[in-house]
Amino acid sequence: MQVYDSIVIGAGQSGLAMAYYLSKNKLNYLVLEASETTAGS
Ligand SMILES: Cc1cc2nc3c(=O)[nH]c(=O)nc-3n(C[C@H](O)[C@H](O)[C@H](O)COP(=O)(O)OP(=O)(O)OC[C@H]3O[C@@H](n4cnc5c(N)ncnc54)[C@H](O)[C@@H]3O)c2cc1C
Repeated sequence: MQVYDSIVIGAGQSGLAMAYYLSKNKLNYLVLEASETTAGS
């Protein structure tokens, strides 16, 4: 079973920025997006 340090809900600007910083800090994360594209807005 995969265990994540963090799960980000939504791949809008905030979610993608969060994912960037989680990645920079070498944390294991998952981004969940309800729509078919990221940063739809
Ligand atoms: C009409 C309009 C025009 C705009 N024009 C501009 C502009 O010209 N320039 C500018 O800089 N800003 C503009 N903005 C503002 C900009 O779109 C927002 O400030 C920015 O998108 C906010 O980013 P966010 O990541 O906080 O939210 P959002 O972009 O809303 O991202 C949230 C994401 O979370 C997803 N989500 C929600 N609930 C769930 C769930 N339960 N599970 C999975 N995923 C989920 C959504 O699908 C969405 O992709 C505009 C906004 C609007 C409404």
